[in-house]
Amino acid sequence: MKTDKKAKKTFVSVAVVVATMVMLVFFASAAYLGDADNDGKVKAGDARTILRHAAKIELISDEACLKLSDVDGNGKIAAADARLALRMASKIDPLVEVPTTENKFGDWTSLNENEHQRVCVNDPSVVETAAHNWDEGKITKEASLWTEGEKIYICKVCGKEKMEIIPRKVSEVNVGDKLYLGSYEKNPIEWVVLEKDENRILVLSRFGIESMDYWKYTKVDTVNWKNCSIRSWLNNEFYYKSFSYDEKKLISETSVKTEIPYQADALYTSDKIFLLSISEAKQYFSTNEERMCLPTFYAVQRGVSTSLLNIDGSPIDSINGEATCSWWLRSCSGNKAAWVNSAGILCYDGSGTGYGGRFVGNYNPLAVRPAMWIDT
Ligand SMILES: [Zn+2]
Repeated sequence: MKTDKKAKKTFVSVAVVVATMVMLVFFASAAYLGDADNDGKVKAGDARTILRHAAKIELISDEACLKLSDVDGNGKIAAADARLALRMASKIDPLVEVPTTENKFGDWTSLNENEHQRVCVNDPSVVETAAHNWDEGKITKEASLWTEGEKIYICKVCGKEKMEIIPRKVSEVNVGDKLYLGSYEKNPIEWVVLEKDENRILVLSRFGIESMDYWKYTKVDTVNWKNCSIRSWLNNEFYYKSFSYDEKKLISETSVKTEIPYQADALYTSDKIFLLSISEAKQYFSTNEERMCLPTFYAVQRGVSTSLLNIDGSPIDSINGEATCSWWLRSCSGNKAAWVNSAGILCYDGSGTGYGGRFVGNYNPLAVRPAMWIDT
């Protein structure tokens, strides 16, 4: 008899636990005021329990049961609560459901750039946070060579949006690539990439775009890269006229070191646009042929010095049958600037052989090939 009872009790306990778990999983169990034993029903027995507690005959120790026993919610358990419970048990008064103590969360909302949160509707101090769960993203603006693109990601949980910048395509160019930026005398300027480092590229005009003296004045004192008129023109008139506001922002002002032929010294300038030096003209071109350059039609009109002609009228130095031009380098010493002739030969020493530096003054124009560093 005793064993039977124990077995039955165990069975009931297991059943209650299972039932409670099921209820916890699927829905919050309803709790009613006056339900002193918290079994989900208000019975005469509950009223009696409350009364016994009020009379201190039998104290309720369970926290949840105590809460449910305070039917009028005045913080004390008294005979009045027992009476109210009895009225509910007798269906004189309707049952009053008390809010469950389980957390019932509202919708996820974005908390910050990294996380979203949801707040318990019963207790706002209970907050859950989790990392945003971004979707695969959608490109809303394609990147171009010179402009950044945009990609929008949306959190699959809270709807938060974030934008990612797609780098300019210029960051993908490689040495030897050709690209256009700016225009000179209504013609787009084509550039060749000579060098690429972490966040910028060095470009050189593919063609000789202008015919110009290194030093445009008649009186020649001591001319060098720092004070010459061609540098001033490149960094002022040419720079301002040839590039748009946005294009100018891409051109970085850079510290330029210029060796002085036959001297240990070097000149240091800060330039946006410059000419190549002797060492750069050696470094970036491995053969004379690569160093040969065609002038633009505009530069030819301007009278740029080009290759001498054969007896039959064809140019001695040419690319695809077109006469190549001579072009300035920035290295200068003794009023003679280094240059590259139409055959691509570096001319700065060997005076008297025809391969010496070119006198900077007088009317002595060669082609201009601007060079610059562009931010990627
Ligand atoms: Zn989110």
